[in-house]
Amino acid sequence: MKKIILLVCVLVQLNVNAQTLVNITPEPEMTKINQGEFLLTKQTTIISNSKTENSKKYLADYLLKFYKINLLTSNEKTKKGNIIEFQFDETDGNNNQYQLIVTDNKIKIKGNAEGIFNGVQTLIQLIPINQKELRIQALEINDAPRFSYRGMHLDVGRHFFSVDFVKKYIDFLALHKFNTLHWHLTEDQGWRIEIKKYPLLTQTGSCRNQTLIGPYGTGQYDGKKYCGYYTQEQIKDIVKYAAARYINIIPEIEMPGHSMAALTSYPFLGCTKGPYKVMETWGVSDDVLCAGNDSSFNFLENVLDEVMQLFPSKLIHIGGDECPKERWRDCALCQKRMKENNLKNEHELQSYFISRIEKYLNSKGRNIIGWDEILEGGLAPNATVMSWRGEEGGIAAAKSKHNAIMTPGTPVYFDHAQSKNEDSLTNGGYNSLKMVYDFEPIPKELSSEEAKYILGAQANMWTEYMDNEKKVEYMLFPRMTALSEVLWSQKSNKNWQHFENKIPGIFERYDFWKVNFSRAYYDIQPTITTDDYKGIKWKLTSNYPEGIIYVNSQNMKDDIEYKTPVQISSSGNYKAIIKDKKGTYLSSWMNQQFHINKASGRKIELVNPPSNSYAVGGVITLVDGIQNTKGMSKSSQFLGFSGTDLIANIDLGEIVSIDSIKFHAFEQNVSWIYRPSQVSIFKSENGVEYELSAALGEPEGKSNLIYKFVKPMKTRFLKIVAQNFGMIPSGMPGSGNKAWLFADEIEVF
Ligand SMILES: [Zn+2]
Repeated sequence: MKKIILLVCVLVQLNVNAQTLVNITPEPEMTKINQGEFLLTKQTTIISNSKTENSKKYLADYLLKFYKINLLTSNEKTKKGNIIEFQFDETDGNNNQYQLIVTDNKIKIKGNAEGIFNGVQTLIQLIPINQKELRIQALEINDAPRFSYRGMHLDVGRHFFSVDFVKKYIDFLALHKFNTLHWHLTEDQGWRIEIKKYPLLTQTGSCRNQTLIGPYGTGQYDGKKYCGYYTQEQIKDIVKYAAARYINIIPEIEMPGHSMAALTSYPFLGCTKGPYKVMETWGVSDDVLCAGNDSSFNFLENVLDEVMQLFPSKLIHIGGDECPKERWRDCALCQKRMKENNLKNEHELQSYFISRIEKYLNSKGRNIIGWDEILEGGLAPNATVMSWRGEEGGIAAAKSKHNAIMTPGTPVYFDHAQSKNEDSLTNGGYNSLKMVYDFEPIPKELSSEEAKYILGAQANMWTEYMDNEKKVEYMLFPRMTALSEVLWSQKSNKNWQHFENKIPGIFERYDFWKVNFSRAYYDIQPTITTDDYKGIKWKLTSNYPEGIIYVNSQNMKDDIEYKTPVQISSSGNYKAIIKDKKGTYLSSWMNQQFHINKASGRKIELVNPPSNSYAVGGVITLVDGIQNTKGMSKSSQFLGFSGTDLIANIDLGEIVSIDSIKFHAFEQNVSWIYRPSQVSIFKSENGVEYELSAALGEPEGKSNLIYKFVKPMKTRFLKIVAQNFGMIPSGMPGSGNKAWLFADEIEVF
């Protein structure tokens, strides 16, 4: 009996240890906790040889930087005592697998050179922080990655970052077992890589006169000249730094679009010959490299020659995205090229452009990778596709036996907001930590045979509104840590609850590394629920341990502890905050303005579903009493329809008297979001037969549009039809594509 009790105690003890001391992300494939501890001290010796030099240096530097420990090193295999031994094993193949065994007197990491390096990253996470003694839990870990491509992207075109910060970024990748940095080096807003043959690319093309600082489309600029580029020596240094961390850098040279910096430097590259200007705002430029002029190709081949000298990467990224065909349509040389090569349209000319560059790179032993537009007009034969406009590009690539990397805007564009209460300016939509964690890179449409072409995934760090390093870190963490688990951990080991348990430890480690990160995970999470469609309830949750949510509105004297969803029956400002037991504030106030009307919280159905990318809040978004005031950065409060009409049926619950109806839409042509060409209101007594009440073509307002119908009537059922603008005509942003229709709210008074 006594023996059994003792055994139970030991197990409990081990579990406590496992929880407090073993907090590893990405989650390893197999972890077995053993009894005992290894004590890391100044007497600890690392045993390594020339094959594992990178890992030895990395670990020694890390311990010196963060623990002020100068480890002893040795290459004597026979050494005994308190040692860390790297056991190089080339038979481990190239899967980067490793084995880590911690016992009382020895830490052993076994694998090939890259495997051992990954093992070091795991060991780093086992070393306690903020403790006097560095006791490492005895255990055995066997680990290997799920995907061979584990990438992070960094855009230095919109904003430029120092060599030191790029190295820091590479270290962030290493710490999370990523193996690829996709370095976006050229853009409309700046050319950032020195090319000896074309000095104007950096003399002229690396500078813009000013930068957009307001929301996209507002025209608010800072009026300050902005410049920056990397010399070839600096690039060599960074490539070497990354290689010592087993990180491949894929350079991206954008073509034929997103080339305004190149065109400004050398106007002969364009169809109209300029003059051009390095762009000061985001978006897509109609001016692109001329596809009919051989000097464009000579230029690109010369540039790529120097790029290949600097980057050993097998894959070279050539962009290929967002290339309007306007200029090519009007250019005699481009049209001549099409005739000579029997190209049916400008999309085939784009395909000609890409495959001509591909042939050149192939002749030098390299392969191309490009954004999913390279699928248009026929895919170049050895190309790898980076699927960014959703999963479709990756699916099409895999089905045609091309390798693909998944980088869908939702959820792995890290320039999008991660908090619904975000108060800094961000670009695009909403990608929360949980959305990133739940991301599955292999689309379900693929067979297991086709799935092999999905090499992995990557998050993209577009830096439109990241003009400083701290902001990049804030947008990066903790989402990148969640992504590391998507890419490295076996699918069966991925578990959100388990990841949530690790979050306090992960945040502690960020503080230890002195990185800036988002605490949005602890934000109050508001959701709107309808109770039998009888109005709106504000539901609030928080992940804050020991945090208590309090609510208030303008009518209330004292804050009230939140217990159940709050019925919102009148318009006004409502607010919520997290406090601890003593009443100390753990968060700042979250404010929400509600606009309550006869449609708020009523039953609503949509005939056409919104696009997956802009449907975060669901159909209730249209009658949730919340109006978008912050433009695109709060697109969780919009529904977006690509090319289709919005048709909403609303049941007001009973026959009501109506004076007026307002339909809120959004317009931003530079983002291909166009106002509806017409909005119509229909009424019905039975919800089956509808009669037209009114139609409007012209809204009030600018950007935030309101279609206001002053039309007294009595009805129970309403149908709102907002007609999509349709295909975007020539001469307008996004021409040849389907227009987006964005809608926010329907109000009935
Ligand atoms: Zn041309």
